[in-house]
Amino acid sequence: MPSEVTVFLPDGSARSVPAGATIADLTEAIGRRLAAAAVAAELDGVLVDLCRPLLDGAKVHIVTSDTDEGREVLRHSTAHVMAQAVLRLWPGARYAIGPAIADGFYYDFELPRGARFSEDDLVRIESEMQAIVAEAQPFVREEHTIAEGLEMFADQPYKREIIERVSEAAVGLDAELAAEAGGNPGAVSAYRNGAGFVDLCRGPHVPSTDRLGHFKLTRVAGAYWRGDEHRPQLQRVYGTAWESDKAVEAHLHRLEEAERRDHRRLGAELDLFSFPPELGSGLAVFHPKGGLVRKVMEDYSRARHTEAGYCFVNTPHITRSDLFETSGHLQWFAESMFPPMELDEGHRYYLKPMNCPFHILIFKSRQRSYRELPLRMFEFGAVYRYEKSGVVHGLTRVRGMTQDDAHIFCSREQMAGELQSLLGFVLALLRDFGLEDFYLELSTMPEEKAVGTLEEWEEATEALRQAALTMDLELVLDPGGGAFYGPKVSVQARDAIGRTWQMSTIQVDTQLPQRFDMDYVGQDNTRHRPIMIHRALFGSVERFFALLVEHYAGAFPTWLSPVQARVLPVRDGHTPYAQQVRGLLAAAGVRAEAEDAGEPLGARIRRAKLEKVPYVLVVGDSDVAGRTVGVNARGSEEPERGVDLESFVEQLRVEAAPPIGRELGTNAAGAP
Ligand SMILES: [Zn+2]
Ligand SMILES: [Zn+2]
Repeated sequence: MPSEVTVFLPDGSARSVPAGATIADLTEAIGRRLAAAAVAAELDGVLVDLCRPLLDGAKVHIVTSDTDEGREVLRHSTAHVMAQAVLRLWPGARYAIGPAIADGFYYDFELPRGARFSEDDLVRIESEMQAIVAEAQPFVREEHTIAEGLEMFADQPYKREIIERVSEAAVGLDAELAAEAGGNPGAVSAYRNGAGFVDLCRGPHVPSTDRLGHFKLTRVAGAYWRGDEHRPQLQRVYGTAWESDKAVEAHLHRLEEAERRDHRRLGAELDLFSFPPELGSGLAVFHPKGGLVRKVMEDYSRARHTEAGYCFVNTPHITRSDLFETSGHLQWFAESMFPPMELDEGHRYYLKPMNCPFHILIFKSRQRSYRELPLRMFEFGAVYRYEKSGVVHGLTRVRGMTQDDAHIFCSREQMAGELQSLLGFVLALLRDFGLEDFYLELSTMPEEKAVGTLEEWEEATEALRQAALTMDLELVLDPGGGAFYGPKVSVQARDAIGRTWQMSTIQVDTQLPQRFDMDYVGQDNTRHRPIMIHRALFGSVERFFALLVEHYAGAFPTWLSPVQARVLPVRDGHTPYAQQVRGLLAAAGVRAEAEDAGEPLGARIRRAKLEKVPYVLVVGDSDVAGRTVGVNARGSEEPERGVDLESFVEQLRVEAAPPIGRELGTNAAGAP
């Protein structure tokens, strides 16, 4: 037996270690810092524990705790420790599954005699977990037969159910369960730490509990076993775990920031919209202020679409089933549609989930000629999609929404040029709303369920790729992510706190034109089939509204603010002048209000700040005498006193106008 083996590192370099050395030994040989940061390794592409011995010729990639992969190992290992702590504190507790999730982990429990976790319990569990960390228990992997596994977990029915499912040949076993139980048919793997705790698990894990400790338990929620409402309801404890306390702090700060910006909370505080329970889940009403912001958004969008050569169309909210049979939606999209209503002797009518086929009917309302192409139709179209009440979320996941939907019908030759100008248009409009950080994603032909010829797919995908490349943005591939009828480019935007939102999508479609047998008369006097481009820009007005609220934390830029300036007289005697200031601002197109002097000035200023009004103007004796105003600009510490009224009105006239109006020096596009 050779005394040394040679292994290869990711940079291709070779390294010799004594025969029988483990991956942990290798990390020690490379360096102390690597050894301290290593949590697992990829051995020939498979994620394994650091205690694995190295074989000659192996490719080794050390996974450290400050990477996504490494954090997943940390988080899942922390979940084991949490379960161990819960079992110490509540002997007889049952534990179900405990995977790592985005930014953290959870574990599902059933406590003896139906006991419930309280918020205080989270603190108790945390300190028990820290005790387990201090005990430096090694994580040791074990392999067992099915029978041994069932015996080992005799008093843990959820674990036994997982093992039984594994023994049923593992066909169609879902990934979550597979991760809990190892993968080899006929066997289960488990990890034991110390003598006190064993869990069914595929691994890998950190070598010892003392590699953990930077965690925080965040909340408890109910969760049905296997997600099935007919099965027992368990208690799910969520936590987050990172490579350092600093990283935990940074994460909690991001959560706080997200919470502070949550559009559902700000929507209520700023009186923008609500979800009346009488309407049912996922159906919003916009209040006067939210409705005003929405009107400004829509007016601005309409103005830009007019400029870009779109025509405006309107279509109804319901249709006979025939339309969606032809379009294929009843075949492909039925689970997202509301059930039909029967009217007029058995005709089935559906609420529309999409506007596309309606726009096709407008195209087909008469014979079209090449001279009319490209024909760009735009509509703020209300659509209804059935979402399970569990996934409905604020304005971002609703059952009824308004899409800023466009369909462009063009010739094959026009497609590449249309896509390029369309993508430029989309990005310019998103930038007008203050988004700046974008990347693009190109989704190509799915492996199954794609219709159309390979040649059509290639042509469309290439046209989209070329359009994307001209935008000078990062382009990410999403192989196989296209819809069954065509490839798409989507615009991804990062908001003020770095979260990514999928925004606009641009989709090429050769299939609906075929299904509806669309044609136009070409220059050669024969019939040709148009290409259809689907495009939603905001996506839905509701979701974009939510994004803007969170991006700006409720402090909309002046042009989008429902109230742009509020004038506050210091005393009653200043009220006529306050009214005069308001009148001048209104005449300049500024949405301005004047209050009376009933309440103390400080209280009125505070309220205006809570309402995030961009400009609060205070007027007193010297202002009346000198035709000036005191300006409290949002976000600035000190008010500016004695600002000349005329020049202030002029400054605000420009700032209050939408971006196009500002460029042109007019207030044409959207101000009331
Ligand atoms: Zn595990
Ligand atoms: Zn469409």
